[in-house]
Amino acid sequence: MAIYLDVLSNLFYPQRCVGCDRRASDVLCRGCFEALPLVGHPFCGRCGAPTAFEVYGCGECSTRDFGFEDARAPLRYEGVGEELVHALKYGGYLPVVEKVMAPLMAGVLSGYPGGNRFDAVVPVPLHRSRLAKRGFNQAELMARGVAGRINAPVLDKLKVVRRTRDQVELSAGARRTNVAGAFASRGPVAGRILLVDDVFTTGATLSECAGVLRKAGAGEIHTLTLCRTV
Ligand SMILES: [Zn+2]
Ligand SMILES: [Zn+2]
Repeated sequence: MAIYLDVLSNLFYPQRCVGCDRRASDVLCRGCFEALPLVGHPFCGRCGAPTAFEVYGCGECSTRDFGFEDARAPLRYEGVGEELVHALKYGGYLPVVEKVMAPLMAGVLSGYPGGNRFDAVVPVPLHRSRLAKRGFNQAELMARGVAGRINAPVLDKLKVVRRTRDQVELSAGARRTNVAGAFASRGPVAGRILLVDDVFTTGATLSECAGVLRKAGAGEIHTLTLCRTV
């Protein structure tokens, strides 16, 4: 009987929910979809952090220099948001990109000042040793998903020239030092660029990459991540 029930539930719920690991008919069950930690409104127009009022520059970012114009992320890096990133990055579960990540990410671009027209979508690159180990660059998969929805080309304009330590264990200051000089451009860049990564923490990696793109000729650099820490 138990086997029968298991077979039956496999027919209706062929996979496990990324958020709670229970059987679900899609990558997220309804409960986890509703529990997505949306940043929502209002938020800081500069760094994308949730705020009490609509502002451009908040308590969190006003003392920071960014190499980019502004940052957006649909989700907070917690709960189901964090589970989604882990499912892709460490679980290699690719369907989450098209099913959940790219629609959420493209969704927050429609409210961007200047709209969602970009000359190119550029992913933050992975060092070749990490790329070889993981088999894919999660930022590039997200960039492709977003680019397809806003009719912009994905241009692989950045490369890692020096291997960095994992940012997770580092303070804000150490993060900046860690990524300084770690990236270089692959040829000239022009126009309005959307720089894409998985998680915004201090903005150190995105700032460093934006600096490289600016030197390579980019006009405006806006950034988009799936999650941001709050
Ligand atoms: Zn669930
Ligand atoms: Zn801010």
